[in-house]
Amino acid sequence: MSGAKVESRVRTAELPMLRAYRLWFEHTRKCADGCKGKPKAQDGCETGRELWGTYRLARAGMAS
Ligand SMILES: [Zn+2]
Repeated sequence: MSGAKVESRVRTAELPMLRAYRLWFEHTRKCADGCKGKPKAQDGCETGRELWGTYRLARAGMAS
């Protein structure tokens, strides 16, 4: 079943991106004086920007 193979490969590729996004999202909810309420991740604290950068890298890796 080639369809199942493709599906599992896509799912594997998505995991790092989704995990990175979740880490950033959870941080923004806890980071009361840096990231919370900021419209852009780049306006957040250093940790928030690092988490966002990890997500961006994972997303770029998926696209290539
Ligand atoms: Zn933060």
